Amino acid sequence: MTDSITLLGSTGSIGTQTLEVAAAHGVSVRALAANSRVEELAQQARQFHPRRVAIGDPAHYHALKTALADTDIEVSAGADAVEAIAAAPDAGTVVNAVVGIAGLRSTLACVNAGNTLALANKESLVAGGDLVKAALAKSGSALLPVDSEHSAIFQCLNGEPRDRIKKILLTASGGPFFGRTRAQLEAVTLADALHHPNWSMGRKITVDSATLMNKGLEVIEAMHLFDVPPEKIEVVVHRQSIVHSAVEYADGAVIAQLGAPDMRLPIQYALTYPDRLPCPGRALSLFDVGTLTFERPDSETFTCFAAAFDAAKRGGLAPCAVNGANEEAVALFLSEKLRFLEIGELVAGALGAFADRRAETLSDVLEADAAAREFVRSHAPRR
Ligand code: NAD
Ligand code: MG
Repeated sequence: MTDSITLLGSTGSIGTQTLEVAAAHGVSVRALAANSRVEELAQQARQFHPRRVAIGDPAHYHALKTALADTDIEVSAGADAVEAIAAAPDAGTVVNAVVGIAGLRSTLACVNAGNTLALANKESLVAGGDLVKAALAKSGSALLPVDSEHSAIFQCLNGEPRDRIKKILLTASGGPFFGRTRAQLEAVTLADALHHPNWSMGRKITVDSATLMNKGLEVIEAMHLFDVPPEKIEVVVHRQSIVHSAVEYADGAVIAQLGAPDMRLPIQYALTYPDRLPCPGRALSLFDVGTLTFERPDSETFTCFAAAFDAAKRGGLAPCAVNGANEEAVALFLSEKLRFLEIGELVAGALGAFADRRAETLSDVLEADAAAREFVRSHAPRR
């Protein structure tokens, strides 16, 4: 178990739940980082007494510095400052709970410095997976998954022979719109998409769950984390979000991990691994749940999912392209400049326009990301 953490994205949904878990087990907080919510970040700093606090957006530096003027906490700002706290020798386990490709530099900085990474920021693995894997191989850092499905798979692989995996069964809640036709999705609103049936999360991942892009990103995340090809990953829609994922082995045994839909458990497991401790999250009662159901995903209606799966098979920078296109399209949808179905059309379009290339350097990744975003901006309907 870790005794200290550095938390990137501390003001978000995963960030605040991580602090709750840390407080429950007396894990000390060495550093905090967030993008812009100064008051919340300052309040967290007062409560958890980190050595350093970094704010991603430099425009907020003075406000944060002033808010913490009577403390001895070191305050810094900008992307370089966030990277620096992830690479600090006394960082402890670095929990990356930043949203989007903005987390990639810190993921790489953490791994290059040899620090242990507890990763919630799936976009950094999706966009820069090959680079992150190469950095892990070089530094020998440990990477512990925080995403609930990947934490489940990680638990199902404990002590089992990796070469006997037949299939990874990646479960999906299906989001608020599963079962609907494209015609029924024409007029759905932002509020409808933000209403997830089982999980309370940040806005971007909530939209990704509604389009099923989240599951496509998670297929790519699983490929990198567990060294399996996309053909060995099967997505199973499981509306109750109780079975968090499973692994089928050569002998036909299927080992699953179950729990209440509560992120505090996978967050905590990444911090206590390989130990298990009582968790502040909800307990599971199978009697209350009663029925568990399993269905096939609908990749014709949910085109984001199909595009991400296609990108997973193409490899190289294709996953980075679909991720970048999706981040841009979701941002437009969140500001009500795009209709729901247009997200999938633009993501598929960006992948169609993408020429296959390998990711050799960080600049390759950032260029592919920028090109995909530009595709979306130039093809989005003007409203
Ligand atoms: P969120 O929007 O609630 O929080 C995002 C956090 O990132 C905020 O603290 C924000 O300040 C910070 N941030 C954004 N850009 C930054 C930058 N450039 N520099 C520093 N900090 C920055 O998002 P979330 O729901 O907590 O999700 C975070 C990550 O975890 C995402 O990658 C998401 O896919 C993943 N994840 C979330 C959940 C969940 O239940 N929320 C579950 C599984 C995986
Ligand atoms: Mg997940």
